[in-house]
Amino acid sequence: MSVFWNSRTRNLDPYVPGEQPRDRRFIKLNTNENPYPPSPLVIETIREAAGEELRRYPDPECTELRELIARKYGVKEEQVFVGNGSDEVLAFSFGAFFEPLSGAACPGSSAAVSRPVLFPDITYSFYHIYARLWGIPCHTVALDDTFSVRAGDYRVPSGGLSLPNPNAPTGRAVSLAELRSIIEYQYREGGGVVIVDEAYRDFGLVQAGESAVSLIDEYPNLLTVHTFSKSFSLAGLRVGFAIGSGELLEGLRRIRDSFNSYTVDRLALAGAAAAIADSAYYEGINRRVMATRDRVSLALTSLGFDLIPSLTNFILVRVPGKSGAEAFKALRERGILARHFNQDRIQDFLRVSIGTDEEMDVFLTECGGLIRE
Ligand code: PMP
Repeated sequence: MSVFWNSRTRNLDPYVPGEQPRDRRFIKLNTNENPYPPSPLVIETIREAAGEELRRYPDPECTELRELIARKYGVKEEQVFVGNGSDEVLAFSFGAFFEPLSGAACPGSSAAVSRPVLFPDITYSFYHIYARLWGIPCHTVALDDTFSVRAGDYRVPSGGLSLPNPNAPTGRAVSLAELRSIIEYQYREGGGVVIVDEAYRDFGLVQAGESAVSLIDEYPNLLTVHTFSKSFSLAGLRVGFAIGSGELLEGLRRIRDSFNSYTVDRLALAGAAAAIADSAYYEGINRRVMATRDRVSLALTSLGFDLIPSLTNFILVRVPGKSGAEAFKALRERGILARHFNQDRIQDFLRVSIGTDEEMDVFLTECGGLIRE
């Protein structure tokens, strides 16, 4: 605490990102990065963009990238908003759509005023942090005993909701029909915006035809959020985007332009555009990630580990006979970094990102060692 901090800063409970070690080489399975490099076309395009033009500001509307995204996702360019990582897009969304406690009800605002925003008890921890930053009341809804979202729990009056699909760190997805029932309810009841965070969609959800992007034209209260950090292997570039109705996107622009109009730099715009253009490369690496995930899941099950079937590039596992903290420490000593969340219901689990086949073979060998200890 500092006497120079205002009450907002004092009240924050900031996110603690997964470790990015610099002192020692680990098999790094702790931040859900893609184990394969970005497409060579992306690297080449960024190199070419690193020239004289950098003296100029980037296009604040990210027009070219939005056109490419729109074409790939089958939506209109004016339904796409691009930001500095999906974390920024999510932070702007909370600020733009969810009502803060102290917010005076403006004429014409929805019935959502001062009703809490809903999200699962086990979910992406940044949602709580954004709610706190913006002073938004929120209410967590318990996942069921299998760590699944029960759609009925979200068909209740709310100030909006935020749901990753598939959920993180559980890896489980809600069906499109169930999602639709939630969005439809919230739309009909004036419950505010439904954010569906599809950070991990390309590891099974899209292939199953279950992405909520297909509902965009029907529901003006739906915002889907996406990232280049996972399936596009560009966590280091910081590009994310949202797809939604014109009125939602106008809200996002109002927040962005009250903060920083140029959130996405020229190199990031060029690299992300090249990634969109090289779909074949990305389909190839993500197919490998999914195959490795399924192989590792089977192997861990036969070792007697408890795990949740995952539609993402990570798995949530419980090491038999060890607490989560013990398993985390033992793996770290063996040169493997996983993620441990010291949180109710999942404190005995580790979230393990899917690495290359070679990395996961080492991981499996070390897991075998752990249970024989
Ligand atoms: N949503 C979810 C569910 C995530 O797990 C992450 C990554 N930690 C993000 C959003 C943010 O991703 P980025 O800011 O790298 O786009």
